Amino acid sequence: MKPCAAILTIGDELILGDRVDTNGPWLSRTLLEHGIKTSERCSVSDSIPAISKAIIRLAKLNSIVFVTGGLGPTEDDRTTEALADALGEHLVHDDDALASIEKWFEARGLVRPPQNDIQAMRPISSEWIENKAGTAPGLLATIGNCTVVCLPGPPSELQTMLATILPDVTAPIDCTGPVCTTEVRAWGMPESVAGEKIAAFMQLQEPRVSILMGKEGIVARVTSADASLVKETVSRIQELWSPWAFGTNEATLASSIGKLLVGGSVSTAESCTAGLLCDAFANTPGASKWFVGGWVTYANEMKMSQLGVAGALIDSAGAVSAEVARAMSEGAVACSGSLAAVSTTGIAGPTGGTIRKPLGTVFIGCTVHGVTTVREFRFTGTRNEVRQRATFSALQMLRFRVLDLDVPTMCWQYGEVFA
Ligand code: AMP
Ligand code: MG
Repeated sequence: MKPCAAILTIGDELILGDRVDTNGPWLSRTLLEHGIKTSERCSVSDSIPAISKAIIRLAKLNSIVFVTGGLGPTEDDRTTEALADALGEHLVHDDDALASIEKWFEARGLVRPPQNDIQAMRPISSEWIENKAGTAPGLLATIGNCTVVCLPGPPSELQTMLATILPDVTAPIDCTGPVCTTEVRAWGMPESVAGEKIAAFMQLQEPRVSILMGKEGIVARVTSADASLVKETVSRIQELWSPWAFGTNEATLASSIGKLLVGGSVSTAESCTAGLLCDAFANTPGASKWFVGGWVTYANEMKMSQLGVAGALIDSAGAVSAEVARAMSEGAVACSGSLAAVSTTGIAGPTGGTIRKPLGTVFIGCTVHGVTTVREFRFTGTRNEVRQRATFSALQMLRFRVLDLDVPTMCWQYGEVFA
C-alpha cells in the first residue's frame, strides 16, 4: 500500500537557509484537512538533475507528488525542464497557456515581457493549469501510477491554484477521510501549568491533543476524524485554560479584544514596544471600529508633550516605572477620549539595565473605564523577544480588564508565583 502524498519544494534559497519553506507545511496541513496524509517532504536546489531525480524517486513511492517553485520566467526557474527530464520527454509550446499569460498582463494594462513566453512551455504529455493570481501556469503530469502536480512558488499563487484543482487531482486517491484540527490559543501561563491542566486529554488516543509553544503563546492542538469530538474537546480545554485562552485557530489577542469591546474603543501609549501594540490592533480586520490610534513616546519629552506625563514624575520615579506606565495609559485615555488604553515602558536591552531595573524590566499599564492597573514584568530573551512578550502580555492584561476580571499573576510578572 503506497502512502498518499509527497511534497517537493524547490529553491536554492530554501536549501541554503536564506528563506524558510512555508509552502511545504501549508500544503501538508491543507492536504490533511482533506484527508490526505503527507508521507514525506523534501527540498532541493534549482538544479535540473536534482529536481528530476527527486520527482522520479517520490513518484515511485507515492500516489501524488506536489512540487512548488521554479515555474517563473527567470534563468533559475528549472522545474518545467526537470519535469520533462523525469518524464523522458521534450517540451512543447502551449498556445492556450500563452493566451492565459497574455490575458493576465492585459487585464492589468501591462505589456507581456518576452521573457514570460517560456512559461507557456510544457512537457508533451502534461497539462497546464491556469494561474489566476500570477503568470506562471502550473503543470499536471503522470509518472507511472503517480500524479505529479507542479505549482508556483509564491504562496498566494500556490494557494489560489491548489484550491481550484485539489478536488480533481485527489479524487482518484484512496484517502483516510477528512481530519479535523482545531488549535486553542492562550497567553500568560507557563507551559508546565498549561500541560498539567489538560494532562488527561494528552493521554488519549482519540482525539490527539498536543501542546505547542511559540512566540505567540501556548497552543493546544486537537486532531481527530470526528469533528464533533474535536469541538467538544476544544470547549473543555477552553474551560480548563480559562481565563488564559483567548480563542481558536486564527484568533489573536487583539481580535478577541476587538470582539469584547462592543461599542468601546482603545488607544495605545508605547515606549519600548514602539508600535507593536498598534500593529497588533491594525492587523485585525475591522479594527477601525474600535481602535482609535496611539502614541510612540520614546523620549521623555514626548511622554510629557504628547501624553501629559509630568516631568517631575519622570524625574522622581524614572521613565521606566509603574508611575509613568500609569500616567501614560491615563494620558492616552485623556488625549484620545477612548474607553480603554494600554501602555508600555521598559528596558528591552541588550544594554541599559541597572541593578534595580535589569534588562527585560517592563511596566505595563492598562486603563479601562477610568480604572488603571499596572504590572511589573521581567521578560527574558532577545531585544525583540522582550518587545513581543511585552506586547502580548499588555494585550492579555487589557483583555482581562475588558472582561472585568482581576488581572491574575502572569508569566514573567515580577515575583510571579503560580499556585
Ligand atoms: P520561484 O518561482 O521558485 O522562483 O518562487 C518565487 C518566490 O516564491 C520566491 O522568491 C519566494 O519568495 C516564494 N517561494 C518559493 N518557494 C517557497 C516556499 N517553499 N516557501 C515559501 N515561499 C516560497
Ligand atoms: Mg526559485
